[in-house]
Amino acid sequence: MLFASKKELREAISHYAINEGYKVKVTKNDRKRMQAMCMKCKWNLWDSFMADETLQIKSMIETHTCSRSYSNPQATASFLAKKYLDRLRDEPKMRLRLFQALIKREIGYEVSQTCGRARQKAIEIIEGTYASQYSKLWEYCAEVRETNVGSIMMMKIEAPYFQGLYVCLDACKKRLSS
Ligand SMILES: [Zn+2]
Repeated sequence: MLFASKKELREAISHYAINEGYKVKVTKNDRKRMQAMCMKCKWNLWDSFMADETLQIKSMIETHTCSRSYSNPQATASFLAKKYLDRLRDEPKMRLRLFQALIKREIGYEVSQTCGRARQKAIEIIEGTYASQYSKLWEYCAEVRETNVGSIMMMKIEAPYFQGLYVCLDACKKRLSS
């Protein structure tokens, strides 16, 4: 199996650890290789860099002799926010109790406060994305107001949704009122 970068491999390892419920950590990380180990049994993984900078799995003890754990410090608010981003985009007001049950059902963890922080983080990411998507429109409005004095530009957003854009250029305004 090949990975494009250390970051990609790291993410794959933490996804694996969280989704499968094992306490797996990256234990070695240098220019030549990356190693991950299970903190509770002999499971491990070695990756080496190839000539083209990709990483390839060189050896792996595949089966754990330890048992699945139902809490994992790696299942952080950031991780959960990213994992459930689409779900929360569709349902930003999802009740915490439902969100908690969803996490329990899908990845098996009991989370309490982390759940609220994860939802908050996801909302921040979603709103941030929308704000940056609208930034071109804000700039356009500002530019028209500046270069076409007297024009009215109004943009309405009810976060995270775009509601409308009202444009009345100065020349049209004058013509209409004359
Ligand atoms: Zn293990």
